[in-house]
Amino acid sequence: MSITGGAIVDLRTDLYAWLPPRRGWGLANCGLLVSPRGALWIDTPYDPLLAGQFLVESEKLLPDGVNVDRVIVTHANGDHFWGAGVLPDAEIIATREAKEHMHYEPTPRQQHALVADGDPATPLGAYLGRHFGDFDWSATEPVHPTTYFTGELELTLGDYAVQVSALPPAHTTGDLIVYLPTQRTVFSGDVIFSSTPEQPGDHPVHWAGPLDNVIDACERVLATGAEVIVPGHGPVLGPDGVRDHIGYLSYVRERAHALHAAGVPVPEAARRVVREGRYPALGLPERLVVTIGSEYRHLDGSALPGVLRVMSEVAAFAQETEASCTGGGPE
Ligand SMILES: [Zn+2]
Repeated sequence: MSITGGAIVDLRTDLYAWLPPRRGWGLANCGLLVSPRGALWIDTPYDPLLAGQFLVESEKLLPDGVNVDRVIVTHANGDHFWGAGVLPDAEIIATREAKEHMHYEPTPRQQHALVADGDPATPLGAYLGRHFGDFDWSATEPVHPTTYFTGELELTLGDYAVQVSALPPAHTTGDLIVYLPTQRTVFSGDVIFSSTPEQPGDHPVHWAGPLDNVIDACERVLATGAEVIVPGHGPVLGPDGVRDHIGYLSYVRERAHALHAAGVPVPEAARRVVREGRYPALGLPERLVVTIGSEYRHLDGSALPGVLRVMSEVAAFAQETEASCTGGGPE
């Protein structure tokens, strides 16, 4: 089964966001900025079908003769740029550091095979099938950014300035944020996973860290003075929503540091944080295994395990949590 039904929303002054149909792994928000002299995307959906839907919706908003000819990639997770294949002639912009993270990710076809051929009798196979099985990368070529930068990059699109800032390692190595001063809007990528009472989101998943850097990135978003913040996943926010998210990140950081100091292993630390019940509305609590694991590595200098090993731990944790949960999961 494939995923359909994302929607474009008009943010302000030729700036739009494409919001996916639901929460969950891989369903990321994207941006579209339109001018008479060109159009750009900020991130792309995860697979060609979703990216094609976003492209059809984008083209309805473009003046005659204008194409989407640039894509700014907030970071090198496939759910933010593997859809760029629908724009074969576009310039694709990423941070130089994002290159490093790309080597950590499987190619789209490798991932497709991993999901399609996974044994549903194993926790990992069942988990990947359940959370990634509706995407289709069976014919997706790897995407290679065409422009890498470090530090700050200032672009213009028609009359609009587009300020792109590379960040220290946070969600991944190689994150960036995009500030559009005319629209007073930031696209933050995955340094923010939002949630509101009306539209609950998922627990963040941070592969690099430390959480101090994720919190600093959120502070940087606030320091732009933006009134509208489009996170990588979850509903569009105002500054207060970002402040709430800093509260979540500070809580997880505090618990991770205390549990690390007490010698509690990562899965048990994640279990205890879930049991404390501070954020019961958030989906995918198993992602705390990744985020707390990343924080532990900064505290003890241990090496980054391979992504499959991490996902196996996530899957095992999810199976255990779902087995002990009588109310059913979020999805
Ligand atoms: Zn993402």
